[in-house]
Amino acid sequence: MRLKSLTLKGFKSFAEKKEIVFSDKIVAIVGPNGSGKSNITESFRFALGEQSMKILRSKKGEDLIYHGHQNTSSQDNANVKLVFNNSDGFFSTVNFNELIIDRTVYKNGENEYKLNGTSVRLRDILEILARVNIGPTGHHIISQGGADRILNATPEERKEMIEDGLGLKHLQYKKIESEKKIKRTTENIEKATGLAREVKIHLGFLEKQVNKHKRAEQLKEELIEAYKYFFLIQKKYISHWTEKYNKQLFHSKNIDADLSKKIEDSKLSKELTEIIQEYKNKNIKVENELSELRQEKDKISRELGRLEGKKETRFENKLDTDQNNLYLKTKDVLEAHNKVFKIIDLHTKTTDLDEFKKAVCEIKDILLTLSNKDEECKQESQEEILNIDKEIEEKKKEMAKIEEKESLCIKNSTDILKGQEEAIKNAHIKEIQMLDLLSKKNKNDREISDCNRNIDQLKRDLCEYNQEKTECMALVGVECDSVVSSSEEMDLLDREKIYDFKKGLERLKIRLEEIGIGLDDSTLEEYKTTKERCEFLEKEILDLRESINSLKETISRLQSEIDDKFKKGVASINKEFEKLFNILFDGGTAAIKLIKVQKKIKSFDEGEDPKFDERIGIDIVTSLPQKKIKELEQLSGGERSLVSIALLFSLSQITPPAFMVLDETDAALDEANSKKYGDMLESMAKTTQLIVVTHNRETMSRADVIYGLSVNQKGSSTLLSVRFDDAVKIAK
Ligand code: ATP
Repeated sequence: MRLKSLTLKGFKSFAEKKEIVFSDKIVAIVGPNGSGKSNITESFRFALGEQSMKILRSKKGEDLIYHGHQNTSSQDNANVKLVFNNSDGFFSTVNFNELIIDRTVYKNGENEYKLNGTSVRLRDILEILARVNIGPTGHHIISQGGADRILNATPEERKEMIEDGLGLKHLQYKKIESEKKIKRTTENIEKATGLAREVKIHLGFLEKQVNKHKRAEQLKEELIEAYKYFFLIQKKYISHWTEKYNKQLFHSKNIDADLSKKIEDSKLSKELTEIIQEYKNKNIKVENELSELRQEKDKISRELGRLEGKKETRFENKLDTDQNNLYLKTKDVLEAHNKVFKIIDLHTKTTDLDEFKKAVCEIKDILLTLSNKDEECKQESQEEILNIDKEIEEKKKEMAKIEEKESLCIKNSTDILKGQEEAIKNAHIKEIQMLDLLSKKNKNDREISDCNRNIDQLKRDLCEYNQEKTECMALVGVECDSVVSSSEEMDLLDREKIYDFKKGLERLKIRLEEIGIGLDDSTLEEYKTTKERCEFLEKEILDLRESINSLKETISRLQSEIDDKFKKGVASINKEFEKLFNILFDGGTAAIKLIKVQKKIKSFDEGEDPKFDERIGIDIVTSLPQKKIKELEQLSGGERSLVSIALLFSLSQITPPAFMVLDETDAALDEANSKKYGDMLESMAKTTQLIVVTHNRETMSRADVIYGLSVNQKGSSTLLSVRFDDAVKIAK
């Protein structure tokens, strides 16, 4: 048998551990109402992974755990274990002789799934079961009152149940898995694309840096060449002109020494200056003497003039006196005159003769005195003239002496001036010579100065040259040595051309500096790894796209397989359905048909027109013999059960499931139909293990083993198994 056993512990009404062993093809579960028969049906669903609490007739996971009785405490968890025989490798993905599916639910609602004692995911269990047509729709487990579930289901649900029954679920799992993989792969592509985009941006940035680095390397090469040329022409220029200007400086310095000596020699001697000064001093002295002599001469001349004037006056006076014989002085005459007139005035009126005679005598004395005085004056005048002449004569002598001195002085002065002129003339000649020498020296000095300036400039050039060498080392690195030590011979260029070339060199340096010389190894390494990463991501995206294509192919292949199997399956089901329907209803027709179902798509916008998605569903079409009823809704309860049983059993005939649980599927059947139902069970039991929960004696009679359920005093379900043959014997 495929299904070996079912063990319940703590599940619903099964407080204690209970095991049902399925050693026969048909096992019936019987017992009074509420004894826990349907709990067994549900335990199958529970163990096979059912998630709907409604289907398990509960509200929450805790409801599945035995909740205790008056004197019995509740269980901590509910556990159901299903053991399958796998010695023939029926469950192809399981490498054990037995497949043990074990599910436990805890009070907190947590579930634990185990496969052969190892914890697994629910999905793992569902996949294994789906491969052997034990699908999640539970078409092989017909719960109590669920016989006509397939009739009540929507066309889409029916289709799903049929797909499940046809064993297409594992293909759909594969398809769903592939679709999920496509979704995941698409997400991965998006992630990888996003990542690649970011990496590309970074790569672009690094590429720019690397390109800059390459451009810098190129510029460096150009700069090395430029430096090479510059160093050669500059070196040539400096060495050539330094040699030339040094020679010129040496020559000019010699000339300078020569000129300096000559200038020194040609300088006005002290003597000559002193001589000129002496002449000047002498001349001043002579001029002073001459001036003194002339002053003296003027003085004597004035003296002579005065004396001659005096003499002339005296002489004229004498001539007058000589003519008038009067030498008296006017004063004396006037004095005498006054005295006389005074006496006269006194005696004019005098009558006295004596008086008168006295007065005449007084007058006579006065006149006599006057006459004497005249004689005295005459002599005095003559003496005075003689003295003046004497004096004049002396002055003239004096004048002659001075004039003699004067002419001597004049002669001296002329001689002195002549000497001075001669000395000045000599000095002038010497000055002209000096000026010539000085002019030559000036010119030579300028040449020396030019030389020095040029040599200084060359020193600065050399300094600049050395600085350039250092800068070259910094800019172009080790190659600089070879650049600087180049011994290539170059043409001599003028400064202007070198300057122009240097400007070009500077421009190159600036461009190189702007680009930036250095790109450290880590950046290059980063560029390399980023590029590799970018390429890897691009390849990854390509691979992922290829994998999507391959998944799409798989999906399309699976869909074709599903469609094909579904089509064939539906055809086979219809054949079997018709047959079973005929058996159950003694005629009539029944079929399942594919129909298109319009499914409304949920819209978030209330005002929007409703949209529909077209899907495929399954419709059941029946035609009962002697009845015109076409609609399923018009069938009686029993008829509905029969249609359901016919359809479910026909489905099970096409792809027989490992086992089927039929919980009171026969509840609505009359005796005749119960018999037919029993026949069908037996027929089906050839390919499928059957667990039937029933109150129907006919059904019970078809079972190999009957498990009787009852409820003990603790409110817990208890089991008692009886083989049907033994029961019959006991009954007889
Ligand atoms: P019927 O023949 O009327 O259909 P049944 O034998 O199928 O009856 P079940 O429906 O299997 O009976 O069992 C129902 C019983 O199980 C109820 O009496 C209920 O009290 C009991 N039961 C359900 N859940 C629990 C639980 N968690 N703990 C204890 N007992 C429970």
